[in-house]
Amino acid sequence: MFHKTTTKLTVVYLAVLMAISLFFTANIYQLSVGELDRGLRGPNRGGMGIEEDYLSPLIQRQLRSQRERVYDEARQHIINRLAFVNLIILVGGGFLCYYLALRTLKPIEESHAALERFTADASHELRTPLSVMKSENEIALMDTKLTTAEAKEILSSNIEEVDKMTGLVQGLLQLARMDDELQKEPTSSKSMVEEVLKSLSTVAEQKKIKLDITGVKDSEINCDKMLVTQVLSIITKNAINYSTAESTVKIKGSSDGRNYQFQIIDEGIGISEADQLHIFDRFYRGDSSRNKEENDGYGLGLAIAKNIVDLHGGKIELKSKPGKGSVFTVSVPT
Ligand code: ADP
Repeated sequence: MFHKTTTKLTVVYLAVLMAISLFFTANIYQLSVGELDRGLRGPNRGGMGIEEDYLSPLIQRQLRSQRERVYDEARQHIINRLAFVNLIILVGGGFLCYYLALRTLKPIEESHAALERFTADASHELRTPLSVMKSENEIALMDTKLTTAEAKEILSSNIEEVDKMTGLVQGLLQLARMDDELQKEPTSSKSMVEEVLKSLSTVAEQKKIKLDITGVKDSEINCDKMLVTQVLSIITKNAINYSTAESTVKIKGSSDGRNYQFQIIDEGIGISEADQLHIFDRFYRGDSSRNKEENDGYGLGLAIAKNIVDLHGGKIELKSKPGKGSVFTVSVPT
C-alpha cells in the first residue's frame, strides 16, 4: 500500500516540478526568441552599420536569407538547450521527488506500523480472557446437573475476567489519549506519595510488605497531580507485587532545585538485563511474571508511566539486579 502511495506522491511532486519548469521554459523561450527576432530581423540590420536600402537587391536578398538561416539555427539551438535542461529536470527531479515522497511518507508509515502492532497486541490480550469466559460458560451450559453454587462460582470467575478486561481497556484508552494536555498545578511531592501509600497499604499488608516513605522530602512540583500520582502508584504496586513477604519497599524523594527525584526501592526478585531493555515497552512482561497468577497485569503499567513522565519532560530510569531488587528513579522538572 505504501509503495503505491509513494509512486503516486512522486508523480504528483514531479508533475508540479515539471509544470513550474515548463512555465519558466516557455517564458525563457519567448524572451530569447523575442531578443533574437529584434537582433536579426529588426529594421536596419545589415550588420555592417550601413542602410540596407543602399545595397543592391541581390545583396539585400542574400543578407536576408543568411539572417533567416542564422535565426532558424539560433532558435533551434535554444529549443534544444531548453529541451535538454527539461530532460535533466525530469530525470533528476524524478529521483529527487521519489526521495522526497519516501521521506514524507516515512513517519506516516512508521506510525501506521506502530498502530498495527498495537492493535494486534491489544486484540491478542483481549482474546485470552474472552476465550476463558466462553469455554467456562459452554462447559457450564452442557452440564445438566449444574448446582447453584457451581453456577455462582462460574459467574464470579466471569466477573474477574471482565474486571481484567476493563483494566486492560482503561490502560489502552489512556495510552491512546496520552497526547492530551496536562493539567499542571503546584503540587506537594509528599501529598502524592501519601496518596499512593493510602491506596496501596492494604495490598502491602496482605503481602506482609512494609512501605516506608520517611525518606520523602516535601517540595512543590508543577505537575499533573493525578498523572504523577499514577506513575508512583504503578511503580510502587509493581515493587510490592514482585517482592517477597517481610521485605520493605522504600519511597524516597528530594529536589535539586530544577528537578524533583522520586526513588522507589524494593528488595524483590529484580529484573534481568534482557528484560530491562524492554521493560517500558507496551505489553512487555518479564519472564518471571508472565506465568504468575497473582500478577494479572498486561505489561501496560510501565509504558503508561513512561509516557506520563515523558509528557512532563522528565526521565524514568531503572537499576536492578536479579535476586537483589530494583530501584526506579523518576525525575520531574519542578
Ligand atoms: P505488569 O502489568 O505486567 O506489571 P508493567 O508494565 O507494570 O506490567 O511491568 C512490566 C514487567 O516489568 C512486569 O511484567 C515485570 O516482569 C517487570 N517488573 C516491573 N516492576 C518490577 C519490579 N519492581 N521487580 C521486578 N520486576 C518488575
